[in-house]
Amino acid sequence: MTEDQAIMCSMAGRVAEEMGSEAGWKRIRTGADSTRYHESGHAVVSRHFGKKTYCIEIFSNGGRTCYSPNSKSGGSDQEHIALFVDLKNHFGELVDLVELECKTENLLRANWRAVQRLAEALEINGGYLNAEQIAEILEKANREIKPAPGSKSDEQKHC
Ligand SMILES: [Zn+2]
Repeated sequence: MTEDQAIMCSMAGRVAEEMGSEAGWKRIRTGADSTRYHESGHAVVSRHFGKKTYCIEIFSNGGRTCYSPNSKSGGSDQEHIALFVDLKNHFGELVDLVELECKTENLLRANWRAVQRLAEALEINGGYLNAEQIAEILEKANREIKPAPGSKSDEQKHC
């Protein structure tokens, strides 16, 4: 995974939360909904870049997505983003965070069904999904009919 892709994975939580709250989508109603969409966003974008998700956990005050079997993830999304931005800057490369956020949103739009399916499953399963459950849900969502052209989730922004 490149630094840009890692940044997009970290951004995906907040972006998915915001997209789910957009007028017209009407999916997010509570704080727990927000967290479920947030963590599902991380998992869907990570999967897109070939990174497996081992668990998603929702707590009363937040949640987490694990990227290794026994991960005790430290650091916030913002800290992870800052880390990769610093790394790129160190090598004299610039990071366009606006462009990366736009691309993250497009990715989530194209895979919104998967985000929804994960968020729904988290609600049904009491806020926890393991690696097998996540893989199965993402696999299934992938086989579902794609959104109709012109529908909300089909729109792609120009980045
Ligand atoms: Zn997050």
